[in-house]
Amino acid sequence: MGVFFSLLQPFTDFIFPPTCVHCRIVLEEDDRHLCRSCWKAIPWIIPETGLYRESRERLQSAGGVDGLVSVYVFEKDGPFQAMIHALKYEGFQSAGRMVGGVLGEQIIEWGITADAILPVPLHRAKHRERGFNQAESIARGIADRTQWPVVTNALVRLRSTKTQTKLDAAERRKNVEGAFAVPGGKSEDLKNKTLIIVDDVITTGATILACAQVLRSSGASSVIAASAGLAQ
Ligand SMILES: [Zn+2]
Repeated sequence: MGVFFSLLQPFTDFIFPPTCVHCRIVLEEDDRHLCRSCWKAIPWIIPETGLYRESRERLQSAGGVDGLVSVYVFEKDGPFQAMIHALKYEGFQSAGRMVGGVLGEQIIEWGITADAILPVPLHRAKHRERGFNQAESIARGIADRTQWPVVTNALVRLRSTKTQTKLDAAERRKNVEGAFAVPGGKSEDLKNKTLIIVDDVITTGATILACAQVLRSSGASSVIAASAGLAQ
C-alpha cells in the first residue's frame, strides 16, 4: 500500500471500520483481521492432537518429510478458514505474516531449528494473477521470529496444478507428481541443509510431500513440513 493510502488509513478506518473476517463485528483497536472471540474459537494444535499425529505419521511414512509443525485446526466454515480466505482471495498479506509469526513461535517452542525457510511455490501464472504467494507471507512471519532466511528461488512449480479441494488422496498425489523442481545450480544451496517447507494449510500433504521429496533428492539433509493449519 502506498504512502497516500497509509495517510488515508485513519480516515478510511473511521468511515469503514475494519471488521472481523469471520463474524463481521467491528474490530477493537488492537485486533487484526479476526475478533478476539473468533481467535479463541480456533482449535490449537499440540503434539498430542490426533489430527496432528495422523498427519505427521502419514507424511513421515511416505518418505521425504522428517517432521511436521502446525498451529491451527482448519475447520470448514470456521474462523481460521475465513482468515486463510482473506489471505488468499482478499490479499490480506498481513494476515499471512501474522499467522506465520504464531507458527514461528510454535517452531521455537517445539525446539525445531533449520537453515532456511522455503514457501511452497505458486506457478508463475498463478503468482502473477494473485500478485503474491500466500505461503511466502507465512514464511516471512516465521522468519520474523526465527531470523532464518526465506529462500524463494530454490524451488519452482513447473506447471499449474488443478485445485485439490475436490480430489481424493490418490488423485492429489498424481496431480502434483513432477510439478516441482530445483532449478539448475540451486542444489548447491540446499546441500546438507535442514529446510522448512511452508504451506498455508496441509490436508493430505500431497503438495508438501512432492516439494520435500524434490528438496531431499537435491541434497537437503532434512526437510520439516510447516503449515499454519491442518485440515482433515
Ligand atoms: Zn469474529
